[in-house]
Amino acid sequence: MQFKDVIGHGPVKQRLIHSARENRVSHAQLFLGPEGSGNLAMAIAYAQYLVCENPGDADSCGSCAACIKMKKLVHPDVTFTYPVAPKEKFSKPKSVDFVTEWRKAVIENPYMNFNDWVESLEIENKQGSIAVEESADILRRLSLKSVESGYKIVILWFPEKLHISAANKMLKIIEEPPDQTVFILVAENHEKIISTITSRTQLIKINRISDEEMSSWLVHKHELLPDAAKKIVHRADGNYREALLLLNHDPEEEDDAKLFLSWMRSCLKFNMPGIAEFSETMSKTGREKQKLFLQTALHIARECIVMNYADHSMIRMDGKELEDFRRFAPFVNKNNADEFVEELNKAHFHLERNANSKILFADLSFTMNRLLHIK
Ligand SMILES: [Zn+2]
Repeated sequence: MQFKDVIGHGPVKQRLIHSARENRVSHAQLFLGPEGSGNLAMAIAYAQYLVCENPGDADSCGSCAACIKMKKLVHPDVTFTYPVAPKEKFSKPKSVDFVTEWRKAVIENPYMNFNDWVESLEIENKQGSIAVEESADILRRLSLKSVESGYKIVILWFPEKLHISAANKMLKIIEEPPDQTVFILVAENHEKIISTITSRTQLIKINRISDEEMSSWLVHKHELLPDAAKKIVHRADGNYREALLLLNHDPEEEDDAKLFLSWMRSCLKFNMPGIAEFSETMSKTGREKQKLFLQTALHIARECIVMNYADHSMIRMDGKELEDFRRFAPFVNKNNADEFVEELNKAHFHLERNANSKILFADLSFTMNRLLHIK
């Protein structure tokens, strides 16, 4: 993956290239960006630039032996750490146990999110994490001599999922790394990373992709007409993962937004069979999908508030969807919006702590019934 394969973020690329050419590569860096921003893609392109045999002014060469290995993510000096979960023979799994799955998933979509990764592991209902065993494995990898490039690079995806014990073991190595070692932490949520880790890293902020850059990418790389691109750009809101989903959208498939609306209708009318069916359906999907649904619900709640009170040019929906939500929007108003958002956040929090999802979604439905009647 080269810088040219990463959408937008010109100034970030320039800054990274500049520090590499000046030989001022920081030992521990935090690539912080929201889902779909390309923070992982950027980390990989940067690692490739560092190990490339003929790096140019604007990008790695793309054709040397190092670049060809990076294309398959098999360069021996660039290793990855990512959340995993117990599966069959791996009761105390490490990243390396799932390296085949990892390479496949990242090559397929370097803009994937945590949920996509967990799903590709086929460990539905289990939550990935980075356990203490992993830090020992990182130390082992770093103790090996750099084979080819001079650098030893570890890309750690989702430090939010680091166990405290794993984080503690890694502190020393982040603080006093062996020469030419580069740690790249790739994260979405600053607050969910153990602060002793973040305080030891240099922050590289990756913003959501700008509408102009996303639009131009969709037109040039996916050969969309500007109007079709515009529709996707509005909905994707700077998230390329979302844009890819919309590109391959199957209209038959009921998406979370539609599910949310029908759930709200059941809650509003206190339709017990509807609420029971919804709780049942939700409890049968995986934990990560349930959390994703709540994130969609939170996103919609915010859009409703914007629709009711803010500048309409900020609304990122159109067509039939906009029509449906325009009718629903008044139900989230200034008298219940705070509580509405708080309850969704609370449910998300409890799901992360393995609450019984069927009971949780039923309870949440009763709360929503009360909230939706506040005028
Ligand atoms: Zn190269």
